[in-house]
Amino acid sequence: MATDHVDVLIVGAGLSGIGAACHLRRHCPEKTYAVLESRDAVGGTWDLFRYPGVRSDSDMFTLGYSFKPWTDPKAIADGDSIRDYVRRTADEYGVTDHVRLRHRVLRADWDGESARWTVHAHRDDTAETVTLTCSFLFACAGYYRYDAGYTPAFAGTERFAGRIVHPQHWPADLDHTGKRVVVIGSGATAVTLVPAMAERAAHVTMLQRSPTYVIALPSRDVLADALRRWLPAKTAYPVVRWKNILLSTANFQLSRRAPALVRKLLLRAARGRLPAGYDVDRHFSPRYDPWDQRLCVVPDGDLFSALARGAASVVTDTVDTFTERGVRLRSGAELAADVVVTATGLNLLALGGMTLRVDGDDVALPRTVAYKGMMLSGVPNFAMTIGYTNASWTLKADLVATYVCRLLRHLDRTGQQVVTPLPPPDAGRVPLIDLASGYVLRSVDTLPRQGARAPWRLHQNYPRDVLLMRHGRLTDSGVRFSRAGTPRRRTVRA
Ligand SMILES: Cc1cc2nc3c(=O)[nH]c(=O)nc-3n(C[C@H](O)[C@H](O)[C@H](O)COP(=O)(O)OP(=O)(O)OC[C@H]3O[C@@H](n4cnc5c(N)ncnc54)[C@H](O)[C@@H]3O)c2cc1C
Repeated sequence: MATDHVDVLIVGAGLSGIGAACHLRRHCPEKTYAVLESRDAVGGTWDLFRYPGVRSDSDMFTLGYSFKPWTDPKAIADGDSIRDYVRRTADEYGVTDHVRLRHRVLRADWDGESARWTVHAHRDDTAETVTLTCSFLFACAGYYRYDAGYTPAFAGTERFAGRIVHPQHWPADLDHTGKRVVVIGSGATAVTLVPAMAERAAHVTMLQRSPTYVIALPSRDVLADALRRWLPAKTAYPVVRWKNILLSTANFQLSRRAPALVRKLLLRAARGRLPAGYDVDRHFSPRYDPWDQRLCVVPDGDLFSALARGAASVVTDTVDTFTERGVRLRSGAELAADVVVTATGLNLLALGGMTLRVDGDDVALPRTVAYKGMMLSGVPNFAMTIGYTNASWTLKADLVATYVCRLLRHLDRTGQQVVTPLPPPDAGRVPLIDLASGYVLRSVDTLPRQGARAPWRLHQNYPRDVLLMRHGRLTDSGVRFSRAGTPRRRTVRA
């Protein structure tokens, strides 16, 4: 049976995979491509998550694509608007017809002789295995497991008479009107859910083991609103985008250089939005420095408003056990609940769970070293998108996709077929994701590593990465270009 062949095979039809396909259309229109998506819809994160209030916590001028202006007046947007934006972009660039839904990629085998990947996907609807070949494999599969969110083992859940739900699997029939809700967690999801559910619930309690930095930002961008009146979207968009990039870069750098000052400013701002005497030190003063974990953004301070009007409250304590009526805490107090939401996080998963093999050898991801945060040592013609942790995901996704297009054009221009990153010459290794958040620490050993220095080290700094990835040299000591069939050098693999 003939196997389909495409020049580029993209895995995943979320924000990154659709963006990658659009970049290919724009910069390498002659390349054939397909997008394999395991779910039955385009949109990834923004289609999966359906909990009340689901929204971005970055501004959409930087979470949007560089090539497709975000024109909605909301700078911090709800999940539906982001999903529609991704789908509209896919339609506009003719990408939708290239997406094959319900194709879960399980394995990809590289053959150096033919310079091709053979990719095996499982169709969940027909239970068939589909095989395709491609010259370049581009993983845009996100960073977490889709089938199961993370829930720690809580004692006594079996006797709880109410409902326990995880935000990743929100039941469409759940009506929380007039109910007592406990949201366990203190991350971005918890701070989104609490004010959204507080609008209709009898009361919402955010139960956190330890606090997170929470910062109120306007849901609309004043500059964008002003420019929109006078300038076409194509002109206004990059101005607002760069304003936000520079502000968030400055904010991150200041947090790194003067953590005590930034901490003081964040706590003062929280205090200013809460009633006099509120225990900010207990509930909003984390043990870590700003940006050791992501800051939580609350648009127009909606979380603080819900707390101030008494519709919600924060309890900083640890779950001892679920009871018939609610949750008993280590302190002995009990929180009565009809609904408990475990906003306890994600399970990290590299490359959407697919395994890679190069010329018959399995690739052990933790033994690979990321090159420019997007390719893996010893793995030819392969790239992956992992967005920034300190800025909008799409800023990095756009850069990675642009870089892949540059690589493909370089290969064509030089009559070569293969690009293989090499491991760094020195032994220095650091984690690929440099956040101290629980979900990162739980899984960091399963991920590729980074080297100590460029080009094996990610900067987490967009302006610097623009110079490196959009304008920097493609040929450096970290990468080898060759023709199909060239004997490979053994590098870091299992
Ligand atoms: C609730 C929530 C809010 C967030 N808010 C922000 C934010 O405000 N700002 C920000 O920068 N980031 C945010 N993030 C991070 C967010 O995931 C990224 O912004 C972005 O959506 C990631 O896009 P992606 O396409 O890379 O991954 P995803 O959105 O995860 O999409 C990956 C796609 O790949 C598919 N896939 C996975 N494995 C396979 C496989 N083996 N075979 C075939 N298909 C596969 C998945 O089904 C999915 O459709 C948020 C994340 C969550 C969970």
